[in-house]
Amino acid sequence: MIDFHCHLDLYPNARDVVREAVARECYILAVTTTPLAWEGTRRLIGDAPRIRLAAGLHPELVRERHREVERLCALVPRTRYVGEVGLDGSPPHRASMPDQRRVLSRVLRACEDAGGRVLSLHSRGAANGVLDGLEEHPKAGIPVLHWFSGSHADLRRAIAMGAWFSVGPAMLRGERGQGLARLMPRDRVLPETDGPFTRSGECPMMPWESAGVEQTLADLWKSPAADVARSLAGNLRCLVGLANRMQVL
Ligand code: MN
Repeated sequence: MIDFHCHLDLYPNARDVVREAVARECYILAVTTTPLAWEGTRRLIGDAPRIRLAAGLHPELVRERHREVERLCALVPRTRYVGEVGLDGSPPHRASMPDQRRVLSRVLRACEDAGGRVLSLHSRGAANGVLDGLEEHPKAGIPVLHWFSGSHADLRRAIAMGAWFSVGPAMLRGERGQGLARLMPRDRVLPETDGPFTRSGECPMMPWESAGVEQTLADLWKSPAADVARSLAGNLRCLVGLANRMQVL
């Protein structure tokens, strides 16, 4: 089981979730929404196997917290994974777009300075802006576009730029998300949940519930589910292998 974009620290019972994820041998990328959350989440994860921690500053929080960008940049040399970062162009966040662009560009520059990072990127309503940022910082590392919802033209552009994608049950519930996933390169896709912000029924979605993605992708890609599961596991090995070659302090 793989959840490559999960807000582990934001579950009400976070310690229990970590314990159960370890018991279920779940591979998790724990993204954070502010640089201040990094230290606490690091303690939460402790030495749990198969869980990696990313340092982030969520675009929805940039309006209030853009001053924290330097704190995030100070963490970048210490971690191979950066996220959640990106842009949000939806109506409630459009006003902070100039700050969001400045923050993203600063973070991408910090990633370049560090020699490249794996980035979990938010791009709702702003796929083009995120891709512009990546184009301006080609050595920022390996972008993983989380819950991608751009146009098919944006998707083609992202693929041509070498981007990866993390897709979850919530994204794949809709026809639009399915249409995008159908066109994604199979060797650059990973499962995610975006929990606890996504729900399954009444409860926040748990990291291991990303397993549902396998069957949906199998249907979309017209491949046996076992083959898809094998590809996703291979994709994770590949990406973690690339990350492990990145220099950290
Ligand atoms: Mn998220």
